[in-house]
Amino acid sequence: MARRSADELRKMREAGRVVAEMHERIRAAVRPGVTTAQLDAVGRDVISRRGATSNFLGYHGFPAVICASPNDVIVHGIPGSIILDEGDIISIDCGAVVDGWHGDAAFTMGVGEISSEAQRLIDVTEASLHAGIAAMVSGNHIGDIGAAVQHVVEAAGYSVVQEYVGHGIGRAMHESPEVPNYGRPGTGGKLHSGMTLAVEPMVNLGTAETFLTEDGWTVVTADQALSAHFEHTIAITDHGPEILTRL
Ligand code: MG
Ligand code: MG
Repeated sequence: MARRSADELRKMREAGRVVAEMHERIRAAVRPGVTTAQLDAVGRDVISRRGATSNFLGYHGFPAVICASPNDVIVHGIPGSIILDEGDIISIDCGAVVDGWHGDAAFTMGVGEISSEAQRLIDVTEASLHAGIAAMVSGNHIGDIGAAVQHVVEAAGYSVVQEYVGHGIGRAMHESPEVPNYGRPGTGGKLHSGMTLAVEPMVNLGTAETFLTEDGWTVVTADQALSAHFEHTIAITDHGPEILTRL
């Protein structure tokens, strides 16, 4: 991957800020009784107010600006008439484009009161993302990121999804290299300052096995156990990793 210039990083920070604002507004809108289509509308409102565009809407025909993935849905749930209930968990993944530069990030949260088991899954998944980010240091390798994520997840007794991975990001939402959420330290491509990557652990309470449903998008856990997803877009800088998708 080419080294991003200071001006390119500035634009990616702006795209990241729009994504972070979508997250903030959607988090505030999640409550029992809300539909996932209503959460998508909140995301659309932020994008239009900020004069950004969506990199999700129309992506291979995807019909919305967010992916909304409740409970056993791992990723790529399509927003619609599904009503969130007290005790559910919901993963929201969304992105934005500013001046041709992309941001992409995801989070999982509870709807109202959730079980301590569900909250622990969410907390471990978020912690695994931050362990991966901490490994994003110039001179390390792609495998160091995945190894750090995998260690946190498996130490907690959970499974790392392997079929879906993180990615380079910049002029397009998905660029090379792939960034798996598993791996061995010191393996894979070398990390260097000026790289921009999206790291996105998908963590299952039960087995790692996934199943693609008949709509061609929605990916669920094969054992119907809960799954959580966190993602940030991160720049590797001379001073360490910088999270671009946060306010
Ligand atoms: Mg992504
Ligand atoms: Mg994403």
